[in-house]
Amino acid sequence: MEVSRILINGEWVSSSSKKIIDVQNPATLEIVGRVPACNEADVNAAVAAAKKAQIDWNKTPGLEKAQQLHEVASRIRDMEEELATSITKETGKPLCESVESIENVAGCFDYYAEVGRSERGHTFPPVSRHQVNFTIKEPYGVVAAIVPFNFPLLLMAWKVAPALAAGNTVVCKPSYLNPTSNLIMARAYEDLPPGVMNVITGTGGTVGGQLIRHPDVNLIAFTGSTEAGRRIASEAGTQLKEVNLELGGIDPLIVFEDADIDIAVRGATYARLLNAGQVCTSSKRIYVVEKIAKEFTDRMIKHVKSLRVGDPMKPDTDIGPLVSAEALEDIEQQVARAVKDGAKLVHGGKRVQPDGLKGFFYEPAILVDVPQGSAATTEEIFGPVIAVIVAKDADDAIRKANDSEYGLGATIFTNNLEYMMKAMENIKAGSFWVNDPLTDNDAGAFGGMRASGIGRELGIEGLDAFREPKHVHIDYVMESKPFWFPYREREDE
Ligand code: NAD
Repeated sequence: MEVSRILINGEWVSSSSKKIIDVQNPATLEIVGRVPACNEADVNAAVAAAKKAQIDWNKTPGLEKAQQLHEVASRIRDMEEELATSITKETGKPLCESVESIENVAGCFDYYAEVGRSERGHTFPPVSRHQVNFTIKEPYGVVAAIVPFNFPLLLMAWKVAPALAAGNTVVCKPSYLNPTSNLIMARAYEDLPPGVMNVITGTGGTVGGQLIRHPDVNLIAFTGSTEAGRRIASEAGTQLKEVNLELGGIDPLIVFEDADIDIAVRGATYARLLNAGQVCTSSKRIYVVEKIAKEFTDRMIKHVKSLRVGDPMKPDTDIGPLVSAEALEDIEQQVARAVKDGAKLVHGGKRVQPDGLKGFFYEPAILVDVPQGSAATTEEIFGPVIAVIVAKDADDAIRKANDSEYGLGATIFTNNLEYMMKAMENIKAGSFWVNDPLTDNDAGAFGGMRASGIGRELGIEGLDAFREPKHVHIDYVMESKPFWFPYREREDE
């Protein structure tokens, strides 16, 4: 199998590194891609190309830029089947989910093509009729875009589309676990001016670190774990570089006593098990008020048992494998810790080999009687593990839900307006869903509070993350007076 080339300065080039990363299909364990583990010379070439291209790209008229971003979207749609298959083969995500994500990726480029064209700043009232005051928003320059493994194209689109719309140029680095789909998607950037988009591959610790430290990178847009985010923030801090950090979460989900239990069971299961539980905003802590806890838990166990763990290429598969052997081992250890802390494992929680496949499959675990404050409520478990915690009443559930270092998303199931308002006001979270978890929208801001991140993606806020304001004050000299400089000329004295 050939080693993929990387995109630098509009050309598909070989890396100067001799090191290779084999990309493994987590369902079958086959090698489905070979990409270079790029080195510092590649980083330097990519950043230099982006720096050179940025001046002209920023001057490109809005309409022309918008047309080019729409063209990227259209080329992504043309590659839907190839991209979706590639995502499934290198992440283990069920194929139907991969197919659905491609429209969202393309749609994000369309959205920012238009938003970037129509919104560049604002004027504000002058003090006199000779004055014009306004704020313009300028691109940062060269953006480093780094994304995790779980939604390789969508999360890249959330950075690349607004960054380009705002007039920046980009060097992007996908996760070393699944970089192939991003290299395929890079074909959609081929018609952009050379250097505007560059794609390099490699591990976070080496090429990722070299990229964020590069002095000509002006903004780091990072999505990944809180641990890596902390390291990146401190490196960026020493260089006084702007960062946008979309990090981990241990999102709460509350089922109040008035909730429609059937909807809550299906909604909570989806919110926790989508993408085999490998979603930043998945509901990792499920609080159920005592009155309905038994009924909810019994029905959830029954529902989870009906789900099919298996080959992600099959249309009736609900849950695919975990992304890697390490991820599987981590989950097993975390479940063991939760049980040691007092939780009861009432379903699943073991390795399985469905459809005759050798991959990293895990039967979804259901933990009940999870003590608040134990590992299952304080560690991010990035896999199919449902943790049910009983709350005395609505107030107790809201208090426990907010008892976290993180603040990414929160979901509640209720039709009671009082519960909705109380939960919305008291739970720190960047996204708040009522009866409809995990929905996002290009026009609505997405991001985390507390240890879940700094900054926002999507919406106007997501565009503003890639540009900085400049206040412009023009005092147009109509006649040679009046000026308000405090110093008089010497001759006046
Ligand atoms: P990770 O932090 O291990 O890696 C993310 C990316 O950062 C990868 O491309 C990696 O190579 C790179 N990287 C790691 N360390 C780096 C460093 N020091 N310098 C530069 N680059 C570095 O995360 P992961 O395991 O791929 O993804 C799972 C994590 O991502 C979870 O914590 C999840 O909650 C989080 N996540 C957050 C969001 C969000 O929007 N908030 C979305 C998806 C995933």
